[in-house]
Amino acid sequence: MDEHTLIGAIDQGTSSSRFLVFSAKDFQLITYHQVPIKLISDQAGWVEIDPKAIIDSVVECIEKVSQYLADMGLSHKSIKVVGLTNQRETTILWDKITGEPLYNAIVWLDTRTHSTVDELLAKCNNNSNYLKVECGLPLSTYFSALKIKWLMDNVQEVKDAIRENRCAFGTVDSWILWNLVGNKSIHATDVTNASRTMLMNLKSLEWDDYLCDFFSIPKSILPKIKSSAENYGPINSGSLKGVDIAAVLGDQQADLVGQLCWEKGMAKNTYGTGCFLLYNTGSDIVYSTHGLITTVAYKFGNEKPVYALEGSVAIAGAALNWLRDNLKLLEDERDSEEIAETVKDTGDVYFVPAFSGLFAPHWNATARGLIIGITQYTTKAHIIRATLEAVAFQNLEIVEAMNKDSGTNLKKLQVSGGMSKNKCLLQMQADLLGIPVVRPSMTETTSFGAALTAGKTIGLWDLKDHKSIPIFNDTFYSTISEETRRSKYKKWKKAVEKCMGWDE
Ligand code: ADP
Repeated sequence: MDEHTLIGAIDQGTSSSRFLVFSAKDFQLITYHQVPIKLISDQAGWVEIDPKAIIDSVVECIEKVSQYLADMGLSHKSIKVVGLTNQRETTILWDKITGEPLYNAIVWLDTRTHSTVDELLAKCNNNSNYLKVECGLPLSTYFSALKIKWLMDNVQEVKDAIRENRCAFGTVDSWILWNLVGNKSIHATDVTNASRTMLMNLKSLEWDDYLCDFFSIPKSILPKIKSSAENYGPINSGSLKGVDIAAVLGDQQADLVGQLCWEKGMAKNTYGTGCFLLYNTGSDIVYSTHGLITTVAYKFGNEKPVYALEGSVAIAGAALNWLRDNLKLLEDERDSEEIAETVKDTGDVYFVPAFSGLFAPHWNATARGLIIGITQYTTKAHIIRATLEAVAFQNLEIVEAMNKDSGTNLKKLQVSGGMSKNKCLLQMQADLLGIPVVRPSMTETTSFGAALTAGKTIGLWDLKDHKSIPIFNDTFYSTISEETRRSKYKKWKKAVEKCMGWDE
């Protein structure tokens, strides 16, 4: 391998798009560029993104990184392959003839399909796990099928395009592939993204007739499902023209790969807009009885698929963004650490940020946010600290469910994501879990997972080489007693109970 061989990773997240470049020789991050993404929220519960802004931001990141490489005396021509990772479930429908979006992207956080979920639940005895055996997921506003159904029922352009066989559906990976590799010839997704739609069968890894019929979604609009590690074709313009995209994974699955959790029993948690804890279950499809979901972790080319149990928390970093944008309690979310540390505890304030209901392990669409325990003594610092603590409590609930489902107690939690930069949060997490919390020195493990997979596809390395990947760790250990932990958790549970059913 040439000493300067580079691997690129497109990381399209809910709050930003990024393009990062890693050295194929020693896995070091060389440079990156990041562009924020504007979320459009015109009505309570609605969260959209302009699909064209997604493409523009990705292209801008790629071109900026090419400039940075030139400034460093390197060439973008050293980028041999690109991996793609993306926010999952977010749903885009576009016109196959013109390539124009038929509506804004409906983001995974969006809860407008709340009443559709209720109608479907009524059809299946209010059993939210009615389709779990086929797709591993509960009926929830979270997943793509519900969002496609809403678009089909409410947007005239979508109805027309379906009738005229011009409509294409994709999660964000498909949309990026269509535009970047494109020439309108590629309409594809990978198994990890497809496993978040409620339309793919977990065993066959194909679109499932029964599931498509259940949601009345025509199979003709769906992309081709491919593995996570194979060639998706070359980028068709710009400085990376001709470079192949050779890996596609949903962001949380890419992070599992990037955190080197390749063995059954290994788990990681990512703290971004939301939090996502994935537990590798190997080639076994494990169904949770404690509110977790079953998902495809990755499938490398023709190898057997690997599955995971997942605990998804809708609102983590998003709660800090809300304190910043709506309440103006923070200028920058990064200040939350310093401000939270000006007080020794939350002053008995509890904040349940159930803005879009509660995801795992509750799956309650009617819950709404609450802040409780406010007294004359409460300050802004207590509320900020309670926001960080809320993230740690939500993850405690997930780890508890994971321990029950797997029958073994997690020994340590590996973490990543934008919010994992916050040491105060990670200390609270270690305190509440009572196990060590381990943070890699390089927190861009999601993009790293996509780059690693792309490198594997073109034979740059084998995953057996993983012992040489330099991920150094910071470890946070619990400092509180079991009794304190138990009494705090009891109060949290009381607060969660109070916020359920508010939007009935
Ligand atoms: P995503 O992939 O969901 O776009 P990221 O992993 O980029 O998310 O993380 C972004 C989130 O992390 C934002 O919600 C932001 O508020 C939060 N965040 C970033 N830095 C910090 C920090 N130092 N302390 C707390 N939260 C942070």
